[in-house]
Amino acid sequence: MFTLVDKNVIVTGATKGIGYGIAAVFATAGANVAIAARSQPDIDTAVTKLDALGSGRVIGVTVDVADPQSCQAMADAAVAAFGGIDVLCVNAGIFPEASLDTMTPAGLASVLDVNVKGTFFSVQACLEGLAKSGAGRVVITSSITGPVTGFPGWSHYGASKAAQLGFMRTAAIELAPRKITVNAILPGNIVTEGLIDKGEEYLASMARAIPAGMLGEPEDIGHVAAFLATDEARFITGQSIVVDGGQTLPESLDALTG
Ligand code: NAP
Repeated sequence: MFTLVDKNVIVTGATKGIGYGIAAVFATAGANVAIAARSQPDIDTAVTKLDALGSGRVIGVTVDVADPQSCQAMADAAVAAFGGIDVLCVNAGIFPEASLDTMTPAGLASVLDVNVKGTFFSVQACLEGLAKSGAGRVVITSSITGPVTGFPGWSHYGASKAAQLGFMRTAAIELAPRKITVNAILPGNIVTEGLIDKGEEYLASMARAIPAGMLGEPEDIGHVAAFLATDEARFITGQSIVVDGGQTLPESLDALTG
């Protein structure tokens, strides 16, 4: 039980951060993994590292998820390489900071294009492959920001992450007859390259706000994605799972220090 050997998986935004962690878990579990992002040098580096992890194949595909034709080319490349698509991890996302005072229409549009439209385009492009699988899985990387919490400077990002859940619930109903499940993971603060650059004191102060006393690792998200991708998870659809070390639980600071 719980095997992912020979599953054909696409992970968008898999060259770094959470996407890389998801791809690493699938590769280690013996799946064939297509990692997709925009930067070719980053793709080449990630493919080399991931290829050493498991028995399956790892390929790199360039994609801009905001472009539907590019998403179609990504899906076609995975089908050409592996023969099909069983799992799509919709993970690519951007999170530029902008307060409501400074946010421009172009800045708002780019966040919605990548995070919201990119979710639609990625799933639409992979639909045929996922349906042929007979056990198709879509796993969306949303966030606690938006669906559960707010953070000044990220209203557009929060709106985009909440929109992914709205998409998920209807997509789950539409795709259930084709045996495709659609679920979402809501990560809390996960240690990625961008956060590490902010220094140890910054990371330590973030960890103090989390009951578990630590930030999550990209693989913490990857392991949940892997479970949702198994055949055994076939009866779970349209659901979201918070993976945050308890970050969203305290009702006040007293709950953390008491
Ligand atoms: P990251 O380290 O910045 O990595 C983002 C990945 O997405 C990169 O591989 C990037 O590669 C790719 N990407 C960006 N725009 C793209 C586009 N238009 N088309 C295709 N690929 C694109 O990000 P992260 O922190 O791991 O976040 C990944 C996901 O997790 C996002 O959806 C984010 O909302 C969510 N999340 C993150 C955290 C956290 O603590 N880090 C918490 C909650 C949710 P290229 O630039 O080469 O395209």
